Amino acid sequence: MKALIGASLPELTEWVREQQQPAYRGQQLHQWIYQRGARSLSEISVFPKQWRSDMADWAIGRSEIYHQAKSIDGTVKFLLRLSDGQIVETVGIPSDKRLTVCVSSQVGCPMACDFCATGKGGFERNLERHEIVDQVLTVQEVFQQRVSNIVFMGMGEPLLNVENVLSAVRSMNEDIGIGRRFITISTVGIPGRIRKLADHHLQATLAVSLHASNQAVRERLIPSARQYPLEALLDECREYVKLTGRRVTFEYILLAGVNDCRDHAIELADHLRGFQSHVNLIPYNPISEADYQRPDQRRITQFVNALKDRNIAVSVRKTRGLEADAACGQLRASFAGV
Ligand code: SAH
Repeated sequence: MKALIGASLPELTEWVREQQQPAYRGQQLHQWIYQRGARSLSEISVFPKQWRSDMADWAIGRSEIYHQAKSIDGTVKFLLRLSDGQIVETVGIPSDKRLTVCVSSQVGCPMACDFCATGKGGFERNLERHEIVDQVLTVQEVFQQRVSNIVFMGMGEPLLNVENVLSAVRSMNEDIGIGRRFITISTVGIPGRIRKLADHHLQATLAVSLHASNQAVRERLIPSARQYPLEALLDECREYVKLTGRRVTFEYILLAGVNDCRDHAIELADHLRGFQSHVNLIPYNPISEADYQRPDQRRITQFVNALKDRNIAVSVRKTRGLEADAACGQLRASFAGV
């Protein structure tokens, strides 16, 4: 085991034993990395001096804060530098008593959605488990506050990195102490994978980036939709609800003149009738690489009302940190070349 971050108590205990240390040091190590935010073994003052200095150069798997930008509403966007020099984005979003972290699951993203800054920048690689968990520890450390909620809505497509995402979720829950119900995995949908996710009995919330009320509009926005008909995606989501007993959130980005008229809302409501779900409307965050517009408030309200009139549970996502490059992947894009 290279990186200790993301490892469970049994894994850490096993590791200290391999280092010829007594098993209880595993518990100490667990506490120091997850509760006290230790960045290196040399900081762990309860460890014997000799061992600490022998292990001082051992990287436990924390990333480095390369840049951070705070917006007036308190949202902080981070660029984190990974051990191979790659950069990923993470966002800390405080509200009332909550602290939400928007985590990345990949460096870049291969899905190439037309409205998404990350998608425009191409794909580098999957994130390792420790690189996902580190994002939460970093936000916790900078805010000096416990993280209460996680959303996998940063860079990347989580269902293309299932193994590392699921083991990061385990660690966030068991090691850091974040309730599974407060963890949301957002996906654009990869054929067969939503259904498969149901088998993991995750107890996390599934959010599906629908963004369109019909196949033609969806294909225009999301290239991968060509291989995944809307009906097939919705069927898989229905099955997910049936198997898990948990409702699905449908994310729907509102793009003026593209998918935001009343007829789209009615079409969407027709698809979702009787479906145990919730629609989360996301007013578009402008990015320089695309030519879309955010609809005005009147238009947003009209869309909301058309859904409400048809008994669809709907909410509008509040835009946070707009002046700090709010859209996913935007801050990193503005540092292109780093
Ligand atoms: N790949 C996953 C998770 C990452 S994106 C997914 O597609 O769900 C998280 C959410 O942010 C998605 O719903 C995505 O469509 C949305 N998003 C991306 N770019 C955006 C933009 N410019 N404005 C508003 N929402 C955006």
